[in-house]
Amino acid sequence: MNQAYAMVIQEYGKELKKQFFDMPEPVNGETRIRVAASGICGSDVHVWKGEDERSHLPMILGHEGIGFVDAVSGGKKDIFGHVLEPGDLVVWNRGVSCKSCYDCLIKRRFYSCKNRWSYGFSKSINDYPYLNGSYASHMLLVPETDIACIVPKDQVDPKADYVPYVSACCAGTTTACAFEQAGVESGDNVIIQGPGPLGIYAVLMAKESGASNIIVIGGTEERLKLCLEAGATCVLNRKTTSTAERAEEIMRITGGRGGDKIFELSGSPDAVEEGIPLTAVNGSYISAGIAVDVGNVSINWFRHVARKNVRLQGVWVGDMKNTWQAVKVYERHKDILARVITKRIPLENATEALRIMERREAMKVALIP
Ligand SMILES: [Zn+2]
Ligand SMILES: [Zn+2]
Repeated sequence: MNQAYAMVIQEYGKELKKQFFDMPEPVNGETRIRVAASGICGSDVHVWKGEDERSHLPMILGHEGIGFVDAVSGGKKDIFGHVLEPGDLVVWNRGVSCKSCYDCLIKRRFYSCKNRWSYGFSKSINDYPYLNGSYASHMLLVPETDIACIVPKDQVDPKADYVPYVSACCAGTTTACAFEQAGVESGDNVIIQGPGPLGIYAVLMAKESGASNIIVIGGTEERLKLCLEAGATCVLNRKTTSTAERAEEIMRITGGRGGDKIFELSGSPDAVEEGIPLTAVNGSYISAGIAVDVGNVSINWFRHVARKNVRLQGVWVGDMKNTWQAVKVYERHKDILARVITKRIPLENATEALRIMERREAMKVALIP
């Protein structure tokens, strides 16, 4: 086969078109990937509908890819110094940063790089490296891409199910970045708003950090049940309880303190208005779920922030460090995290898969080329 194909957005909100590309030959440290699976992120739906200002048409979506090295040049090494070889199963950093600007070099926050671009977001199919999203049979990764080999070629098991690794690429990465910034300590009361893929990772990370109470607020019963299996100590369904009832229950459980670390992983401004007042004195409120402009929130600043010495932390994406942390959390909790992928759909049916995500009929869909 000397052609690759991708599902291309030609018009926002319309059917993705299958388009063929000449198979790229990697040069100078580029890596060609044969995509094994691509997760669909909630933000893909926003891009598809034209709600993300970073996108340029025509484009290929997909920043949650895993795949096998198909061809490589220039002795490209992964983050451990392993020289990549065809057949290695790899994940990669969806963002490529310049590693020379102020935020990269001085602040050491590569995801805040002003020159950062992302696979599956920033580039059109007319921009190098052309096959730059994972809704495709193959991708070409530029030499600056951080790559991690998760299964070396001689250990790849043809019968193993590697697809759920895609949950680590974005959901797990962003959650790990939120936890890195939150600094959850043993004994902390942790509250998680939103039991989606980020929320499930958050329950597992809170448990591993030694949190005492792990309370999850959400609106979907089966997701809340999965949170309980993952280690949540209490789940509160916001469809069957009022905000006041939840606050009362949380204060009862935490001995009147509230949450030492509260994670907004729901994308909703209502969650912020509910969550900040539930933050304990000297606690932190960490918001990692809001990825589009949802407008203003109203908070009594004196009562709920200043007077309580509350720290507010925004989180935007994450870095290769966080991707690697998420991969390790996935490997320790495969039984739980594999269930985040609730549907698998052939790549050719990507439009249908986006509609399923838009209607919230799946926690996460994986596209299989
Ligand atoms: Zn994403
Ligand atoms: Zn930079």
